[in-house]
Amino acid sequence: MAKHRKVYRFRMKPTTAQGHALNRMAGARRFIWNWALRRWKDHYAVTGKSIPLAQLSSELTALIKKQPETAWLKDADSQASQQVLKDLHRAFTNFFEKRARSPKFKSRKRDKARFRIPQRVKIKDGGVFVPKIGDVRIFQSQDVTEETKSATFQRGADGTWYVSLVVELEMPDIPIPMPDPAKTVGIDVGLIDYATFSDTTLPVPAPKFFRKGQRKLRKAQRTVSRRQKGSKRKAKAARKAAIVHQKFADQRWDFQHKLSTKIVGQYAAVCVEDLSLKGLARTKPAKSINDAAFGEFFRQLRYKCLWNHKHCIQIDRFFPSSRLCHVCGATNDRLTLSDREWDCDCTTHHQRDFLAACNIRDEGLRMLAAGQAGEPKRSGRQCRTRHAGQ
Ligand SMILES: [Zn+2]
Repeated sequence: MAKHRKVYRFRMKPTTAQGHALNRMAGARRFIWNWALRRWKDHYAVTGKSIPLAQLSSELTALIKKQPETAWLKDADSQASQQVLKDLHRAFTNFFEKRARSPKFKSRKRDKARFRIPQRVKIKDGGVFVPKIGDVRIFQSQDVTEETKSATFQRGADGTWYVSLVVELEMPDIPIPMPDPAKTVGIDVGLIDYATFSDTTLPVPAPKFFRKGQRKLRKAQRTVSRRQKGSKRKAKAARKAAIVHQKFADQRWDFQHKLSTKIVGQYAAVCVEDLSLKGLARTKPAKSINDAAFGEFFRQLRYKCLWNHKHCIQIDRFFPSSRLCHVCGATNDRLTLSDREWDCDCTTHHQRDFLAACNIRDEGLRMLAAGQAGEPKRSGRQCRTRHAGQ
């Protein structure tokens, strides 16, 4: 049995008092993080060594118990408080192993309000039990049957609280069967048609809010940059931009989840392009935002296939999917990005996106037969499902 992590995310509906309590928990986390980081730096300056986690932990206990000015930290869950030290410890490990930047002090303005509880968080009857706070109502659209490993509470730009629960899934280590080619689909993604399929399924047009959301976001961001640095008006505009961004991201997420669930339910195997390197080759920021959005869509397809014991095959991004004639095998090097259709010298007429989808499917099946498709990427990756509820 192989273990996989899965993340559920729910929107919370705290009462006013609970909302204040959640804010205080996040405030305690920030305070402890900054205190521990200061202690770490001081210790390092004197001894040239990292402060041991156990020492930091007992110093924290003493700080909470004995100092009257930090007595308010007692209101926070002790496991959540100790978790902060573990998070800092991990941040330093990642830094020393050159996987991350040096841990920084957290500011109320810059950093999102959040905290993490390692255990004891349970979902029941449309509520989540938060230690020291009690049952907080959530918009629950799905049952969580697995045991919760940890829970993260985070406040969005518009003040909404979300809870993310990490659970562990056990998956049998049996090979995924070879798919029926008739039930294998190739998918080409784009900004006009979001998804074009290699069979008779009608293309899914990109939703209107994609374009509209991006335009609104750009406008909000321009307003922020025009306003005077440090001014109240700038801070207000920045808050507004963050809300626009979050709304857009939520809408996109919902759309992608619905589509990826539908696709995985319909086919035995799914073939898509691998965009992982594409973002690096692009220069325009808007393009790389789109690539990131497609990347998220593919990530959903990958893990949903994995859970349903199906293949998800990713094709090399240099594969000329929209330029290759499947009749004569010629490659059209004159094709530009704006060409929606083209005629091959062999007189075959091609619809660009449909051709790409068919070529992606054929290449995927070829890779699978040659044993080059490999297993879906799964190392340490967390699979997220979100059920925000409206
Ligand atoms: Zn041809």
